Amino acid sequence: MKKWRTKNGYHIYRVLTGRSNAYLVSYGRKNILVDTGTSNNYQRLLKGIGSIITHRERIDMVVLTHTHFDHCQNASRFRRDQGSIILASSYESVCTKEGFTPIPRGTLPYSKIISRVGRLLGSRFFGYPHFSIDIEVEDKYAFNDFDMNLRIVSTPGHSAGSISLIVDNEIALVGDAMFGIFNNSILPPFADDKQKMFESWKKLYATGCRLFLPGHGNIIDKKLLRSQIYKIN
Ligand SMILES: [Zn+2]
Repeated sequence: MKKWRTKNGYHIYRVLTGRSNAYLVSYGRKNILVDTGTSNNYQRLLKGIGSIITHRERIDMVVLTHTHFDHCQNASRFRRDQGSIILASSYESVCTKEGFTPIPRGTLPYSKIISRVGRLLGSRFFGYPHFSIDIEVEDKYAFNDFDMNLRIVSTPGHSAGSISLIVDNEIALVGDAMFGIFNNSILPPFADDKQKMFESWKKLYATGCRLFLPGHGNIIDKKLLRSQIYKIN
């Protein structure tokens, strides 16, 4: 399992990978899960988490970088089984109450076709068990009552309510604001608003983080992000 550690001892584990990534952020006895994958992967996700946290611990909070089905299909299960608090953007709260967040537009020729088909298939194929968001965030959120050096920044573009979690000012968990599956490109194949997403890349670069962990694929470093920002200007 891939893992990272910040200078101050925050651990990040990639507890699920394949179709989409989920990450566990651990510090002391607090555990935050970032994204939850699809229902098919629930057991695999629990196994990944169980190999790290002790029986006495639980997932205190689920942070959803956004609410597309492949990131949030298990969110309501964590609340039901572990009493986890769910944090996500207020811009997506209408969708989560319905259990469906529309598929964004394609950014590349092939993904434009997939997006059109996906939009036609709709919630029957790309829905999820509906849930309400306990902590609705907009642009920023500091985890003051959590006693952890974490913060949320809004990084819209892929979806209106895409957010990123900044861990200890070093590592950013960015959801689908960037993709780690192509060589030398971080452009997500889907985005509601490409220009906004490019602005979000600049915002993430400005956080000073050295690493960016995406919702799909491998890690993106500061140098690659800088080169991509340079390319769009
Ligand atoms: Zn997405």
